[in-house]
Amino acid sequence: MPFLQVALDVPVDTLFDYRYPDAGEDDVGRLVVVPFGRAHRVGVVTGVSDTTLIESNRVRQATRIARHLPRVPAEILDLARFCHRYYHHPLGEILLGVLPTALRRTDATALTPGRAFRLTAAGLGVDLQAVPARATLQRRLLESLRDAPTLGVPEINALGSSAMRVLRVFMHSGWVEETVPPDPAAPGEVAFAPNASSHALNPEQSQAVAAVVDTLGRFETHLLQGVTGSGKTEVYLQVIAEAVARGGQALLLVPEINLTPQLQARVDDRFGADRVVALHSGLAEGERLVRWTKAARGEATIVVGTRLAVFTPMPRLALIVVDEEHDASYKQQEGLRYHARDLAIVRGRDRGVPLVLGSATPSLESVRQVDAGRYRPAYLRTRAGGAAPSVRVIDTRALPPGEWLHPASAQAISGAIDRGEQSLVFINRRGYAPTLLCHHCGWVAPCHRCSARLTYHHGARRLRCHHCGHEALPPRACPSCGSQDLRPLGQGTERVEEHLVARFPGARIARVDRDTTRRKDAFAQLRDRIESGDIDLLVGTQMLAKGHDFPRLTRVVVIGADQGLFSPDYRAEERLFALLLQVAGRAGRASLAGEVLVQTGAPEHPLYAALVAQNFDRFAREQLEMRRAAGFPPYVHQALLRAEATDELAVFEYLRQAATAGRDLGEDVLLFDPVPPLVARVAGRWRGQLLVQASARPALHRFLDAWWPALQTPRVRWSLDVDPLDF
Ligand code: ADP
Ligand code: ZN
Ligand code: ZN
Repeated sequence: MPFLQVALDVPVDTLFDYRYPDAGEDDVGRLVVVPFGRAHRVGVVTGVSDTTLIESNRVRQATRIARHLPRVPAEILDLARFCHRYYHHPLGEILLGVLPTALRRTDATALTPGRAFRLTAAGLGVDLQAVPARATLQRRLLESLRDAPTLGVPEINALGSSAMRVLRVFMHSGWVEETVPPDPAAPGEVAFAPNASSHALNPEQSQAVAAVVDTLGRFETHLLQGVTGSGKTEVYLQVIAEAVARGGQALLLVPEINLTPQLQARVDDRFGADRVVALHSGLAEGERLVRWTKAARGEATIVVGTRLAVFTPMPRLALIVVDEEHDASYKQQEGLRYHARDLAIVRGRDRGVPLVLGSATPSLESVRQVDAGRYRPAYLRTRAGGAAPSVRVIDTRALPPGEWLHPASAQAISGAIDRGEQSLVFINRRGYAPTLLCHHCGWVAPCHRCSARLTYHHGARRLRCHHCGHEALPPRACPSCGSQDLRPLGQGTERVEEHLVARFPGARIARVDRDTTRRKDAFAQLRDRIESGDIDLLVGTQMLAKGHDFPRLTRVVVIGADQGLFSPDYRAEERLFALLLQVAGRAGRASLAGEVLVQTGAPEHPLYAALVAQNFDRFAREQLEMRRAAGFPPYVHQALLRAEATDELAVFEYLRQAATAGRDLGEDVLLFDPVPPLVARVAGRWRGQLLVQASARPALHRFLDAWWPALQTPRVRWSLDVDPLDF
């Protein structure tokens, strides 16, 4: 009897052997239900063989292979194996972690084969609006049945626990019928013609499109560099159109989907919403499964998704686009700490398809690849829809104490209000004030669970920890000296809003940060109000920096940017520059000229000179030169061993032992001393980290392979972060 090698979602780096009577090569990549300990688990078959190293009478039999479901294709298995080698993470956790949760459920019903359902003509004719809003499950089921040619039992169950009951009611009403399940291997549809663009491309855009189209069918990485509004999205849409016209599928990765509804709308517009699926973390389990299956069967032509979507099976994948490729949200910060842009490149190479990485401020890693001749650059130097905004640096050193808005900034804002235009005051800090200070003794409100200060939120009258979520009432008197002279210190969005209300009476002011957009749809409603001109003045965090095109917004005032200049993190300047250029891109996108005023107490800093010139290339080369001289990435390769526990001593004891074990390996790497991160304690757990660095990647990975066994411990929670972004 053949044996299956099965990857299971367990934190040990091994595969498990099971027997299965009629298993064959064809089962590789299929989901399988297996007994594990006293329970059952879902795993993925990674291999089938006639032999096993386990004593064969100890090998148990697998319960069932789910042959009716799409298989995890070889390409995704390979990508998972790559992650396994590169990120040094257990294969089973990777594989199960990238599948829709609805497939991972152990309850066997989710994996029973066979039946498929579809709408009848009568069902198609049902007016969705006529279904009462309260009947959410009914609605969801109807919508899902409309979205996919057929639905199987697992997809239906994933919509809600009584979905099958509702389905039976629908069948009774003649809305739904049972049909034959689609062949999971069917190739899906091919070529179709998207809607034409309303723009004739400018010469730079045409050149970029031609360069990418020229490489369809083989691996090549294109770096498309162009400021906000220069027409990058238009380039993506046209190369995607060409790829799908030739029968391919395209994957468009975006940093955060709820921040880019306009992009989503443009893709839907151009290609037809039924050709496009969006995959992001906000989906219900059932929705994700339906969409994932559509992509895996080749029925969806275009997948627009956030980082996890890089693992979506796409049988006819022909092109990958990574928008805002420098964005840190492509990096997963827990579990498998992968970087979706890097994996996209691995996938493109393995599949032999081209990639387009787009950004106004590419990552220094990517810039270096261009300089090394490995990526092909394309530049969009002019704004497609209007002129670039001018950037001014405003010296705040002469402002009287307590004053935070420079007269020049105030004037710019009131001028815009007079002309009926919009302004944005950008401050990357939510809350009222970052600290509550006792003016008598200097006490500041700490979080008792973290080594961090509490942020004061005035509207909610709460002190909140932005690291662990802890909340407390502000004390009436200083807990340390009893003085009642407690004052908020510094600025957050809430306080800036309060100042602006006093300063510009009559102006319609809105605040956009995580606190004002917590409620579902709140952000969309705010956006509508901004777009329709209901708002004169916006206060916002980086939520507003990304992906929106507000045609009436012409003035941007940046305050509090200097914090980013003097951070110990060597990437801080790169991030700040990218953020500021992105914020600047909000100003004057349509026919109105824009102006950006950056208030700073360090106007001579070279970063600001590059910003005023809006010269990313100069900034990037200077940064790279500094990194090379200092021996920082991308000129060296790093991995970070992180550990945390409630016992601080245990953390550092573990890291010291790991360091000793590492040094004994005698590999050509540099091991630093264990240190606490910037915030040493979060939610009652102490953290520590140990940095490993090598001048060449192979040496680093050889070392990590050899080091891995010495890292295993149950005493602390630990993880390995290869190519860490945060320290
Ligand atoms: P980016 O993605 O670089 O921010 P977009 O592709 O969104 O730029 O383009 C910015 C604006 O310019 C959009 O309103 C878009 O419709 C318009 N646009 C893009 N390309 C052209 C063109 N060739 N001619 C005229 N307008 C264009
Ligand atoms: Zn005090
Ligand atoms: Zn805390």
